[in-house]
Amino acid sequence: MTQHFIVIGNPIAHSKSPEIHAQFAAQTGIDISYQRQYCPDDAASFTALLEAFFHGGGVGANVTVPFKQVAYACCAARGGLSEHAKVAGAVNTLWLNTALLKNGASISEAIYGDNTDGQGLVNHILSLGWPLAGARVALIGAGGAARGVILPLIQAGIGDLSIANRTVSKAEDLACELSAASDVIDAHAISTCATSELTGAFDIIINATSIGLSGETLPLADMLTAHYAYDMMYGRTLPFLQHFAARGAQTSDGYGMLIGQAALSFERWTTQKVDVAIATAALHDKALHDK
Ligand code: NDP
Repeated sequence: MTQHFIVIGNPIAHSKSPEIHAQFAAQTGIDISYQRQYCPDDAASFTALLEAFFHGGGVGANVTVPFKQVAYACCAARGGLSEHAKVAGAVNTLWLNTALLKNGASISEAIYGDNTDGQGLVNHILSLGWPLAGARVALIGAGGAARGVILPLIQAGIGDLSIANRTVSKAEDLACELSAASDVIDAHAISTCATSELTGAFDIIINATSIGLSGETLPLADMLTAHYAYDMMYGRTLPFLQHFAARGAQTSDGYGMLIGQAALSFERWTTQKVDVAIATAALHDKALHDK
């Protein structure tokens, strides 16, 4: 029987999730339908759409911009949140909490949320062979994407963390809020500064800003170095990666993170493991073929 999934966003036409999940379905032999779902940008429309989807027999949903925080609030008031979703304050993956359904909860009351973005990043970094255990990590950005990756990075055993942001107060607030939300995050062990003041030798530097969309470049200090540089953006030439590649660093864009977070969603929904490397190669070949 076909299992139904959607990705909800606004805009949504650009989403690569249907192609990625079709690849996972082909790999695992599971019969799925995975559709893009546009939603008006308001919480009431989002909640109504989600409830209608699950009442109609939907198995799982992904959520993208601008609904990740709305999805968080929706699940917090219904079927619950994973630890990663709680700490991130955002949800990208939803399904029905079967334990609650068994205890008599209605479908609407059982909608449960997880956040796989951060673990998707960690899994991708590890698959590249970049060592995280004990690593000195610099994270640039203090928005939703940065918030979502901090707990998974700390759980992966990084040594210390610096958060730099254009607006320093947002980096400071982020460190304090996450430390209050999780026992494993200690705000005192996280240093914060303005992006232009970030200096020193790091093992890994991660760009979690949306600057690549604007055509501007980050004000990076000359004394800032890293062995590995990761940009969460993908699909274009990224000045951040060019900057560090020119200084000898290994680099990666965020395409593997995108596939990694999708793989974790698929695994949560279907309990089937997927091979991310096979999916990445197949999707790369398909993209070249479609050009
Ligand atoms: P937010 O809007 O929540 O945060 C944006 C961040 O970028 C803030 O820290 C902001 O700084 C900073 N920023 C924006 N413009 C500039 C600028 N001109 N100069 C310096 N800093 C700037 O976005 P998200 O956190 O949701 O997303 C960030 C990026 O991560 C996006 O590019 C997104 O595509 C990518 N992403 C990739 C994923 C993947 O799977 N590969 C998953 C999720 C996100 P300030 O606080 O000062 O405004």
